[in-house]
This record gives sequence, C-alpha cells and structure tokens, in this order.
Amino acid sequence: GRKFFVGGNWKCNGTVEQVESIVNTLNAGQIASTDVVEVVVSPPYVFLPTVKAKLLVNLGVPWVILGHSERRSLMGESSEFVGEKVAYALAQGLKVIACVGETLEQREAGSTMEVVAEQTKAITGKIKDWTNVVVAYEPVWAIGTGKVATPAQAQEVHANLRDWLKTNVSPEVAASTRIIYGGSVTGASCKELAGQPDVDGFLVGGASLKPEFIDIINAAT
Ligand code: 13P
Repeated sequence: GRKFFVGGNWKCNGTVEQVESIVNTLNAGQIASTDVVEVVVSPPYVFLPTVKAKLLVNLGVPWVILGHSERRSLMGESSEFVGEKVAYALAQGLKVIACVGETLEQREAGSTMEVVAEQTKAITGKIKDWTNVVVAYEPVWAIGTGKVATPAQAQEVHANLRDWLKTNVSPEVAASTRIIYGGSVTGASCKELAGQPDVDGFLVGGASLKPEFIDIINAAT
C-alpha cells in the first residue's frame, strides 16, 4: 500500500521564536507511528539549522517541494522548467514533492485534467524512477483561500491523475505513487478527505503552522 504522507509547507513564515514554538508543538504531539504516516516539514531555508537541531524525528533535508503554483505564477517557472528541476533534484539524491494544479479559470473552463496532465507530462518526460516522487494536487483556487476542495472534487482529480499515470507511465507507478492533496486543508476538513481512496495524504500550508497540524498528520488513523 501507499503510506500516508503529510507535508507541512511553511513557505516564508515565521521568526526563530515561532519556528521553535512549532517544532516544540510537533515534538510534544501524539503522532501516529511512522509505520502509518510519513511526515515532512518544509521550513524557510534560513531556519533549516534551527529545525534540524530541534526536531526529534529523523530529519535530514531529504525532501524538496517543486512546482508549487506560487513558483509557477510568481517566478514564472514553466512546466518544462519544473520537469528539469525534478529530474535534477532526483539525480542529486533528493526526494521530491512535485506540485500540480489548475486555476479557477481553468477549472471553470473544464480544463482541469488537461492542465494537470500537461504539468505531470513535463515531469514524466524527464524521469524514469518514481520511487522518490510524491505528487501534490494543489488546485490554485484552494491555496491560502480557505476554499478547500470537496472530498469528491479531490478524489475525482486524484483518480484521473492515477489513471493518467497508469496509461502514460505504468500500472506499477500509478499504483505505488502517493498523490496528496493541498489547498486550505484544516483539522476540520482532513478526515473526510483522507477517507477518499486516491487521497494519499496532504500538503499543508497555513494549518501546518498551528497545533491542528497534529490532527492532520493523524487524519488517516
Ligand atoms: P494552504 O494550506 O495555506 O492553503 O496552502 C497550501 C499549500 O500551498 C501547500 O503547499
């Protein structure tokens, strides 16, 4: 099976004191066994030493988040460029959380799957081994807006994306690759989302800075 995966994307948030406080909360929290859930936090680059020194779980810097919509839109990263970054990161021995997702305009135009497939294809074309890749479906309209996708909306895209991987990569990769959901996930919304068969975890922004991140980590248990 696919081990449940929860990432905390802290983006550029926090002071040293706030980051220490989040880390203390995580260390004190009752978190399900690492046999059941894989937990990754992504602090701002400048706070990596602080977080590494204090977080008690086994933390190197094994993971990197690539293709986040904020990078695609604000930094102008194309799908092609994201694909190259994913391939390069993997070649350097990093594991990758690769983000894909449509804007509201694209969803309303009915092109969600087309957009997600195009973004995924740019990665597919550049890599062979999917072992160290987690795909995060993050609809742009749900990021930081408080408008979480409904469990049915998330499940639909995740299932379509898995189908796409089956056809375009392989049945094995489709079955084993974790597809996680990101966009306004909270302690309140995580359980029902986690219950969807193709939702293999979360990538959490705002709520990963709060004590409810513990509830999200435990959503599948
Ligand atoms: P929010 O959870 O704050 O909507 O952010 C989601 C996100 O961008 C995670 O990468």
